[in-house]
Amino acid sequence: SKASVKGFLKRNLFVLFTIAAVALGIILGFALRPYNLSLREIKYFSFPGELLMRMLKMLVLPLIVSSLITGISSLDSKASGKMGLHAVVYYMVTTLIAVFIGIVIVVIIQPGKGNRDSPVANGGNIEPVQATDAFLDLIRNMFPPNLVEACFKQYKTVYKKTVHTRNVTVTLNLTDSLNVTDSALSMNLSTVLHTIQETVEEVVPVSGSSSGVNALGLVVFSMCFGLVIGNMKQQGQALREFFDCLNEAIMRLVAIIIWYAPVGILFLIAGKIVEMKDLAEVGSQLGMYTVSVIVGLLIHGLFVLPMLYFLVTRKNPYSFIGGLLQALITALGTSSSSATLPITFRCLEENNHVDKRVTRFVLPVGATINMDGTALYEAVAAIFIAQVNGMELNFGQILTISITATAASIGAAGIPQAGLVTMVIVLTSVGLPTEDITLIIAVDWFLDRLRTTTNVLGDSLGAGIVEHLSRKELQNQDAEVRNSVIEEN
Ligand code: ASP
Repeated sequence: SKASVKGFLKRNLFVLFTIAAVALGIILGFALRPYNLSLREIKYFSFPGELLMRMLKMLVLPLIVSSLITGISSLDSKASGKMGLHAVVYYMVTTLIAVFIGIVIVVIIQPGKGNRDSPVANGGNIEPVQATDAFLDLIRNMFPPNLVEACFKQYKTVYKKTVHTRNVTVTLNLTDSLNVTDSALSMNLSTVLHTIQETVEEVVPVSGSSSGVNALGLVVFSMCFGLVIGNMKQQGQALREFFDCLNEAIMRLVAIIIWYAPVGILFLIAGKIVEMKDLAEVGSQLGMYTVSVIVGLLIHGLFVLPMLYFLVTRKNPYSFIGGLLQALITALGTSSSSATLPITFRCLEENNHVDKRVTRFVLPVGATINMDGTALYEAVAAIFIAQVNGMELNFGQILTISITATAASIGAAGIPQAGLVTMVIVLTSVGLPTEDITLIIAVDWFLDRLRTTTNVLGDSLGAGIVEHLSRKELQNQDAEVRNSVIEEN
C-alpha cells in the first residue's frame, strides 16, 4: 500500500541521512585537521553536536520514569515478573559472555607484553576506592533518599585519612578535587611525623556524592511505583493515564528531535576527529590493546549476540539490527547509551515493531545496568594493565576480574567514559596500580564510542529476545483486555 511504501522510504531516508552524516563528519573532520584549530575554535565548531546531546539528555529523565511506570503498570504482576526474570537472565548471561570473550582475546593477543611503552605520569593519583565500598555504593544508589537529588547526584564513598601521633591528629578528606594535593600532603606529614614518633594511620569511608544522574535509583523507584499503581485498580487509573500520556508526549518530542539528529551527529564526529591526538603518537602496546578491545566488541556484537537472538527467536538478527542503525550511529556519535535511549526506543518501536509493553519495561533498565561492551572493555583493560606490569594473574584473580568487571559495568552510568571511572574497582580488586589507568586514557574516547554502540545493541537485541520469550503472557493479557472490553459493553 501507499502508506507502507511511504513509511519504508521515510525510514530508509533517515538511515541514509544518518550514514551520510557520519561520512561527511569524518571527511570534514580530517579536512579541518591540518588547520590546527584551537580548543576554543573546536568547541565552537562542534556546537551543533553539543546541542543534540543537550536535547537528547533533556528527554532521558522523563522518558525513563514515564516509560518504566507505564510499562510495568500496564502488565499484570505475573507478566511483569516473567519479563523481568527473562531480562535479568539475559543481561547476566550476555555480560558474562562479553567478559569471557574479552579475557580470551587479551590473553591470546597479549597486548601488554614486553617493556612498557610509556612511563606513567607521576602524581596522577586516582582516588583510592575499595571494591567493597564501590559495591555498597551500587546498592545505596538503588535507594536514593531524595528523588529530586537523584536527578543530578549520585552517592559515592570518599575516604578520610586520619594520622594520629602522641600530640597531633591530622585528618584529611581525600575528596575528588583535592585528592592530589591532599594525598601528597598527607604523605609528607605522615613521613615527617613518623620520624618523630610512632603514628597510627586510619582510612575510613565517609559519605560523599558525585554529580550525574542516579539513573539506577530512578529506575528502581519507577519500577516499584509502576508495580504499585498497576495493582491499584480503579484508584490508580488517573496516575496510569498521566504517565502513559507523559510517555506518549515525550516520544513525540523524540520524533521531532530525530530530524535534527543527523546534523548533530555530523558535528559530534567531525569535532572529535579535529580534536583527537595524532594516531602516530599511540605506542604499539596501546595500539594492540585497542585492537584487542575492537576485536572483542566485534565478535560479541556481530556474532555472539546475533546468534543468541537467532537461537531464541528463529528470526533474522541482521534485519533486526538493520532497523537499529540510527540508534547505533547515535551511540557512536554521543558515546552515551542513556542519551541514545530516546532513539533506541524509536527504532525498536517504529522500525522493528517490538511491543511497547516490552520496550518500556526493559529498555530503561537495560540502558542503565546492561553494558556488555563496557564489561568486555573493563576485563581487557585490567588484564592489559597486569601484562604491562609483568604481573602473572592466577585463575582466582581472573575470576575476580570477571566478577568486578561485571559489577563495574552495572555501576557505570550510561554517560561518556563512565567505564573509565569504574575501572578503579576492577584494578583495586586484584591489587593493580590504579594510576595505570592513565596508560589507556589516550584511546579511551574512541573505545568508549565502540563499547557504547555494543551496549545499545545488547539492550536492543535483549528487548527482541524478551518479547519473544514473553509472547504468551502478552497474548494472555491482550485477551484479558479484550474480554473486559466486551464485558463492559
Ligand atoms: N559510555 C558508555 C555508555 O554510555 C559507558 C562507558 O563508559 O563504558 O554506555
